Amino acid sequence: MLNLTDKFLELVRLAATSLPPDVEKALRESVEKEEPSSASRGALETILKNVELAREKSTPICQDTGTPIFYVHYPQGWSTIELKAQIREAVVEATKLTYLRPNAVNSVTGKNTGDNTGDEHYPTIHFEEMEGNTLSVDLMLKGGGCENVGAQYKLPNSKLDAGRDLEGVRRVVLDAVYQAQGKGCAPGILGVAIGGDRGSSFIASKETLLRQLDDKNPDAELAALEDTLFEQANQLGIGPMGFGGETTVLGAKVKAVHRLPASYFVSISYMCWAYRRRKMTVIGDNVIYA
Ligand code: SF4
Repeated sequence: MLNLTDKFLELVRLAATSLPPDVEKALRESVEKEEPSSASRGALETILKNVELAREKSTPICQDTGTPIFYVHYPQGWSTIELKAQIREAVVEATKLTYLRPNAVNSVTGKNTGDNTGDEHYPTIHFEEMEGNTLSVDLMLKGGGCENVGAQYKLPNSKLDAGRDLEGVRRVVLDAVYQAQGKGCAPGILGVAIGGDRGSSFIASKETLLRQLDDKNPDAELAALEDTLFEQANQLGIGPMGFGGETTVLGAKVKAVHRLPASYFVSISYMCWAYRRRKMTVIGDNVIYA
């Protein structure tokens, strides 16, 4: 099997230091929506300067380089044991090169491992075997502040008058954005999963964050819900970093997964403006980054 450690290292560097084009475009468009000389416009301009500097100098976009979460789709016959070892080695090297801050802390002792590896869940690696000969690896770096304002609701929710339908979903998602205020480093991106159990629901809510900001949900009902959430979250007036204004979220992505009749969970993974996700595709000897 190929040794892709260096290629994984480049994936980490790219994710940590260069914001994806669709996210940067959405941030630039947002600047124009804010009042001249307002705190919200100033916050967005500072964010964009920081984004440019990070790319130019290959330094982290934010001091919190987040939890590394890898999604690996691999061809039949590849060893997940070897892929995991190579990914972990790349993460250690990326930490040495300061693309990543040492972030893995023992939850009981508080001791930092110093190299961003911990138990089998840190870094998080999801594996899925696929047809064909292509290896594709998505990497998301999920900041701690935005992860802290993620939320899970169990419908019905009488306090929010939210029933077990898409209107109920709308209500709880907007409540999560309202509760977050600027604490998740708005403008945020909402990854929403409807259904599943508590665990699979959160996994699905993060997976939906891998979508491009300007794509369209193939399900017409969910596409309409995404548009409504985007529009109504931006009417809450929270604004960039909580300074008020027009830009509270850059996008909303919704996925529905099957559930038990007894449960109706809605999970919201809130991603901050530092929406670091990059993809690597390996076909034969060719490695393509996006
Ligand atoms: S939430 Fe995001 S932008 Fe805010 S400190 Fe964490 S990683 Fe940085």
